[in-house]
Amino acid sequence: MSNNGNNGTLNVQEFEYKAEMKQLLDLIVHSLYTHPEIFLRELVSNASDALSKVRFNALTDQDILDREAELAIKITINTEERTFVIEDTGVGMTEEELIANLGTVAKSGTLGFMQSLKEQQKELDGNLIGQFGVGFYSVFMVTDEVTVETRSAKPGSEGYRWSSAGQGTYTIEKIDKAERGTRISFKLKEESKEFAEEYRVEQIVKKYSNFVDFPIYLGEKQVNSITALWQRSKSELKDEEVNEFYKFIANDYQDPLDYLPVSVEGMVTFKALLFLPKEAPMEMLYRQGELENRGPQLYVKKVMIQNECRDLLPEYLRFISGVVDTEDLSLNVSREVVQSSPVMAKIRQILTGKILGWFETLATEQPEKFRTFYKAFGPIIKIGLNTDFTNRDKLIELLRFESTKTGVDEYVTLREYTERMGADQKEIYYHSGSSRSQLLAHPNLEYFQDMGIEVLLLSDPVDVFVIPSIHEYDKKPLKSIEKADIDFSQKKSNAEPIAENLLAPVLKLFRETLGEGIEDVIESHRLVSSPVTLVSGKDGLDSQMEKMMKMMQQGNMPLGKRILEVNTSHPIIRNLAGMIIADENNPLIRTAMKQLYEGALLLEGSLDSTTSFLSRMNELIEAATLSR
Ligand code: ADP
Repeated sequence: MSNNGNNGTLNVQEFEYKAEMKQLLDLIVHSLYTHPEIFLRELVSNASDALSKVRFNALTDQDILDREAELAIKITINTEERTFVIEDTGVGMTEEELIANLGTVAKSGTLGFMQSLKEQQKELDGNLIGQFGVGFYSVFMVTDEVTVETRSAKPGSEGYRWSSAGQGTYTIEKIDKAERGTRISFKLKEESKEFAEEYRVEQIVKKYSNFVDFPIYLGEKQVNSITALWQRSKSELKDEEVNEFYKFIANDYQDPLDYLPVSVEGMVTFKALLFLPKEAPMEMLYRQGELENRGPQLYVKKVMIQNECRDLLPEYLRFISGVVDTEDLSLNVSREVVQSSPVMAKIRQILTGKILGWFETLATEQPEKFRTFYKAFGPIIKIGLNTDFTNRDKLIELLRFESTKTGVDEYVTLREYTERMGADQKEIYYHSGSSRSQLLAHPNLEYFQDMGIEVLLLSDPVDVFVIPSIHEYDKKPLKSIEKADIDFSQKKSNAEPIAENLLAPVLKLFRETLGEGIEDVIESHRLVSSPVTLVSGKDGLDSQMEKMMKMMQQGNMPLGKRILEVNTSHPIIRNLAGMIIADENNPLIRTAMKQLYEGALLLEGSLDSTTSFLSRMNELIEAATLSR
């Protein structure tokens, strides 16, 4: 930021927006908005936040400016002059806060994200803006120049006027302002003159801000009805109203997927209104599951005391937003006291139970909704499984898997799996890899497909960290089909294996050829149509798991050695046995063996270098074409 000092008037300072800010403004004003009326919602929302803050600060701070001022928002319009003014008696801003809040983009990554949205030409509701902490700038859709006059509620504060045409610079000057709070004023563009019409402003306030916790006056008249939706029972709630409330508090541009009113009386007393978003919040996608700083709003006796209260829910459930209002905490408690209060622990415990019950009900009563939920938040449920041991069993019931017996995007639960498995099947089988199609093409699946045994297909990267840790379900162990110690005695043998005395030299030569790289080479009982496959030993890690660990930079971890299984009834193995009898030193045998091994690696996506694989392939093609 450059400070060009005075420009004419002595105490007016001109500042330049950061470069990123200019582009952002341009995007907001020219590309992203479809509903200019949103500006009003954003301004009311900011005023409401400022009022909440001052109400909270006043609980502990005796010296706050204008202690007795009414907490309210006031809108004044002049239809002829097309002017618009919105004032609040909230916390206001100091000069530093003005610069920090209205001169920079609060959240890093915002610009990049917005540009990518524009590039994707996504149809955007302008509501999206609120999510990125840039709501204020939406005002430049309806005006060319904005003035913000503000005075902080801090004792001894002074007034400042911020002014900008949204074109790259803004000015700040010291002013006399009698009362704390913020006054934002501007002249509407000709095409936006509707926002200086009383009926229109009233309509917008009712639509977006009816439940704002402070009176909103338009002229002398209060236009909102201040209803604490969470204090109502389910039958008194209207979807439309609830949805608007959700968008307001969660900064989401979409309706929620579902909502849950909660009312608890007993050991603790509280009311809550909780929301399930349709999509995972941005930071979850950007910063791998980071939900640390989220949570519902905490109210004590109808006064908001924390905007995003982390202590109300276990971390894995913090994608749920809403309001929790309790009588059991005292109003002027500090964050630390809230954190360690037994009341909070009790609320958290009850809410967690209610939420998991809610998911269960969705699963049985509204499977379509549950499916949407699971697509967005399935990975989080799995994280919960490894962190919330009290509710582990409930979470396990919520798990959904694709399997060899479901279609794409169709799911089976562990319960359904065990209910439909054959009487002689003792284990629950799973197969993990990077995609459904890759999994289905894998030779390790041949036996199971042949026998009609259902195998769960795990392609969510989180799966390999979670599923093995379940160990067993309904007394049936979960087992990766990669393990070498599966009982294949049931296999219908469809082809004659080669004789034992022919097999031994094949296995021996395989071992010699592959040497150190492999733990062992053994006869396979699982393969039907492929010549070889790789499996892991009894104590070895699943190959997908290994890949994940490697990706996560746990690079020093020695990779476990695999076992090569050989299909002794496959023509290639048969032919190799024949070649060994004829001339065990024929180099083609070893080339073929290496190629079979690396082919198996390739299939799993763990072949590191393809150059030697390809040159060997050419050698083999040459040999094959030569003998014609
Ligand atoms: P967001 O409100 O999402 O953080 P905005 O661009 O709307 O993003 O506002 C940026 C910041 O400016 C706010 O976080 C707040 O600190 C400050 N601010 C905006 N309006 C007001 C107001 N009426 N009173 C006090 N502070 C305000």
